[in-house]
Amino acid sequence: MPYDDGHGGFERASRTAHTYTVVRALAERAEFYVPVEHLADTQWLAGKIKKRSELVPDGAAATLSHAIAVDGSRMVVEARAGLPSVRYGYVQAGAVYLDLGALETQRQERFVDPVVLHQAARRALVALDLPTAGAYTRQGIDIKQSWREAVFDLFQRKRVEVNGLNQTLLELLYLLHGTPDRPASTIPVDCVACPQKNIAVEPTGTTCPACSAEVVPIDKLRLTEDVTDEGTNELPLTRLMQIVELLVVIGLMTLLWRSARNSYLPKTLFIVDGPLAAQGVTAPLKTPTLAFIQSMTQPGTLGPFICGVEKSSEFVDFAEAMARYDVLEPGQLLVIDDEVIAHVTNNPNPKNYGQATYWGRKFIYRATDGRVLVVTIPPATGTPYSKQGGRPEPQHYPTMPAILDVIDRTGSTMYLNALVPIALAHGTAAYPIGVGTDVLKLVAQQKLGMAQ
Ligand SMILES: [Zn+2]
Repeated sequence: MPYDDGHGGFERASRTAHTYTVVRALAERAEFYVPVEHLADTQWLAGKIKKRSELVPDGAAATLSHAIAVDGSRMVVEARAGLPSVRYGYVQAGAVYLDLGALETQRQERFVDPVVLHQAARRALVALDLPTAGAYTRQGIDIKQSWREAVFDLFQRKRVEVNGLNQTLLELLYLLHGTPDRPASTIPVDCVACPQKNIAVEPTGTTCPACSAEVVPIDKLRLTEDVTDEGTNELPLTRLMQIVELLVVIGLMTLLWRSARNSYLPKTLFIVDGPLAAQGVTAPLKTPTLAFIQSMTQPGTLGPFICGVEKSSEFVDFAEAMARYDVLEPGQLLVIDDEVIAHVTNNPNPKNYGQATYWGRKFIYRATDGRVLVVTIPPATGTPYSKQGGRPEPQHYPTMPAILDVIDRTGSTMYLNALVPIALAHGTAAYPIGVGTDVLKLVAQQKLGMAQ
């Protein structure tokens, strides 16, 4: 709304009022260093670039026939217009099981037919919802306690049901801390009320031996550390989504381990949307996840095959710059060692990178059709990142040639720098904009007893 200027007209913002800001900002721009834009001298990268064809380990590389992609979505809605402090959150995760043969048949056609692709993919879904701010599971508790109770309740009730896998999220959390054959009977959890660490917690919960506070298994997830009284609490909802994605992956891998260990499991690539990392407060899940995946490796065979594909990060920008200047050619892989990490993240201590959170190691791969992807892959043994430098060399990743082969085979002009299985999984998990959001608001009103 313009102000009256006292002469019967309106005061208007000067057309050139922004100029000073722009000139100042431009003048100061040189003070910033954007590592991913600095590719002028690329000689230092030359020794780190490998051809895909050089990576084949002893014997023939496995050829995979199926891919399972997992993707999650989350959304926070205002329960009612005019009451912005009350927010309701939704999380869901979808998975598609895709026959790569059917996909390749489609690629030979001039256009990929989404209908045929969807028919080739079978889906699984799990969905949860909870009040994220301004509404509580009961009277007289704060928002952190409300989150604790809501998430514990959801983990006990919500199941991932697909082809004989019928497990609650809580059962999957105990599975993750055990082995593919036997879930853990307790998980080590830190008390949220006192400094007591590593309390053995059964699925029903326990009391802290030091302070007698209640300890529940979902305290392991540390979600409430990110829950605040102010704001919409989208960050803990994002962490919850990432945990659900991880548990869906673990559940589906276990399903194949138990039912098709020698048939489908060694022929299937699991693809996660995003890096293989337990980020932020969920970092304590990194070590059990890596141990669980590595425990599925059988003597004399490769696998299990799993990779993460990053959508946005400094490494993705760096990868795209490398492709733009053809520093990385189709069919080539960049090994991301300490020198590359130091360059891309502008971090003088690259050995600290990733060690607390990543259960896979990053590589940049340029597919034979020119797409460029940042993938993370778990090593067969050991940890991908560590204070000692971790395992940057491709020989620690015997599953890599088969994974890169699937990346080459699942390209599509429909999706820039993406993989068809991920795009399909996203299609099952994403919340539609517009009408979908309105419906979620109505559902939130119903659940909060605010319906008019
Ligand atoms: Zn305690």
